[in-house]
Amino acid sequence: MKNHGTRAGIALAIVFCLNGAGAFAQNTPDTVDGHLTAAKTAAAFDFTGTLARLCVAPPMVTGIRDVAPGPAPARDTWFIEPAKVFDNLYFVGSKIHSAWALTTSEGIILIDTLYTYNSEEEIVGGLKKLGLNPAMVKYVIISHAHGDHVGGAKLMQDRFGSHIVMGAPDWDSIEKSANGYPQGKPKRDIVADDGQKITLGDTAVTIVTTPGHTPGTLSVLFTVKDNGKPVNVAYSGGTAFNFPSTVPNFDTYIKSQSKMAQAAAAANATILMSNHTEFDSAIPKIKMLALRKRGEPHTFDVGKQAVARYFTVTGECAQAARLKLMPAPK
Ligand SMILES: [Zn+2]
Repeated sequence: MKNHGTRAGIALAIVFCLNGAGAFAQNTPDTVDGHLTAAKTAAAFDFTGTLARLCVAPPMVTGIRDVAPGPAPARDTWFIEPAKVFDNLYFVGSKIHSAWALTTSEGIILIDTLYTYNSEEEIVGGLKKLGLNPAMVKYVIISHAHGDHVGGAKLMQDRFGSHIVMGAPDWDSIEKSANGYPQGKPKRDIVADDGQKITLGDTAVTIVTTPGHTPGTLSVLFTVKDNGKPVNVAYSGGTAFNFPSTVPNFDTYIKSQSKMAQAAAAANATILMSNHTEFDSAIPKIKMLALRKRGEPHTFDVGKQAVARYFTVTGECAQAARLKLMPAPK
């Protein structure tokens, strides 16, 4: 019996490699337990939030979420003060979700916009508290069209004339949504392409299309300055498995993790950021900056190897979830 299982595992691994999605499977037994172990090893103590959500919590099959229905949750469940994190990067997110303002010589590029109910206070209010002018936000890059990231896009478009950048399938999903945008939808603006650069003054953000979490999910690469020193960031645009649970959907997701791992490595990214604070520990990392002594690394600067390990965690957890969908080998 054991032998059969192993052979089936090897056969699956070969099929999988031919699919071009086997970058994570080199020394990993192609079993659920093999992938979970590989993910756990890669997570170490750096990415426990991502590991817990993707490898431990059961996959959610709720489908696409639009803007949150119903009343806003109590303010103290989400509100957190904004913070300057790098010379040119400011956190204007909530306790749970990230929004980042990248300042340039010609204005601001905003990455993600939280919910409709908290984007006004956290983003518009947060920028003002930090001494930045929200009217200087020229581009808003939306990682994907779920309510927890796209909620403030309409506000930025209507009030400040910011250009909204999103993947084509996610623009489509907004347009098709019947009830998801009770306060109005952002109008289709810039449709992002793979490899496209969103350039503002002296700064460019490179788009990497990473379909999976949604069909139009965007990840990005950019450079921040840490006391004048350039440091490269890989921003992962979609993480959880709350898409319809099918093998082809997991294949798409896994391919994107491998693609983003390669793009991050090619860009020499030593910082991994996510749009959920549970995945990149943004809140404790921001707080820990207060303890940073001169010459110590920035709390977000985890190194190239750790950035690679992050995508091993997401890829391996996805492989484990995918395998659970496969018929048991006979
Ligand atoms: Zn989402």
